[in-house]
Amino acid sequence: MRAHGDLSQLEITDVPEPELSSSGSVKIQLKAAALNHLDLWTLRGLPGLALKLPHILGGDGAGLVVETGGSVARVKEGDRVMINPGVSCHRCEYCLAGEHSLCDSYGLLGEHLPGTLTEYLVVPEQNLEIIPSLSAPHDELTWTEAAAYSLVTLTAWRMLVTRAHLRPGESVLIWGVGGGVSSAALKIARLLGAAVFVTSFSDEKLAAAKSLGADAVINHADADVVQEVRRLTGGRGVDVVVENVGEATWERSLRVLAKKGRLVTCGATTGPKAVTDVRRMFWYQWTILGSTMGNVSEYHEIVQLLGHGHLRPTMDSVYSFDDGIAAFERLQSGKQMGKVALEI
Ligand code: ZN
Repeated sequence: MRAHGDLSQLEITDVPEPELSSSGSVKIQLKAAALNHLDLWTLRGLPGLALKLPHILGGDGAGLVVETGGSVARVKEGDRVMINPGVSCHRCEYCLAGEHSLCDSYGLLGEHLPGTLTEYLVVPEQNLEIIPSLSAPHDELTWTEAAAYSLVTLTAWRMLVTRAHLRPGESVLIWGVGGGVSSAALKIARLLGAAVFVTSFSDEKLAAAKSLGADAVINHADADVVQEVRRLTGGRGVDVVVENVGEATWERSLRVLAKKGRLVTCGATTGPKAVTDVRRMFWYQWTILGSTMGNVSEYHEIVQLLGHGHLRPTMDSVYSFDDGIAAFERLQSGKQMGKVALEI
């Protein structure tokens, strides 16, 4: 990325190969990377985010370990690894308590730090997990699947499991199931044994969600979501709402909550100043939960699940690295059903 702006600011070019930055760092030769909407927002420019330009985008990646610092114990040369995009200090109060995404120096690959759309990347060893090998009847994971898994699955896992404590038999509403975090949330909620209702503006995406196990789908372009959810739950409302839309949906998200319901949010794509009726909030004893990314042990947990064949990412398309800008065009089109990835 030469400068902030549109896709015309992207180019494929040579940069110096990165070197190990500490005794706990690891150099990866990337085999695949995957795109997220975050890459487009970073390209356009996020408030308060000053980047050293040119900048390498990409939060998700997988590859081979080619060099390790002297104190590295988790991985060795030749290991096939997948990358947790969240980098933290591992020394502060929050890191020591296992709350890495609350670290003051927390940053995401491709957003605050050089990203994965590159041949070589240096990351702390704590950000790596060995790519699990799957046993029959599952096919082996591809490099692109391993790359595409991390950011959205980790984000959705922390939202539903760690923050909202979603339990078997509960119900959940997920807005905009075409989005990466939302579709990962659908798979996680199904795995946990919850009843899942999803929305989208696209009947095609709703049909895909249905095939992934959604119990009911709502086209939010023409249906009254609040009324639909009330109807589906016999007037009761849902136990959990997964939000990342913000202003445009916030009040409806609250109105579909059951008594003692939990709203969990990780984003505000339509704006941050949402309105909450505080009287309803205390009367119905709702909980509003913020959530972002996940920590080292949550990442370990979701990679273990992947190793058992769970939560495998849905792939939309795979591009060659030389065709990387076309991959961004696909992402920007909003037409994709699943992850857009690059082979490096
Ligand atoms: Zn820290």
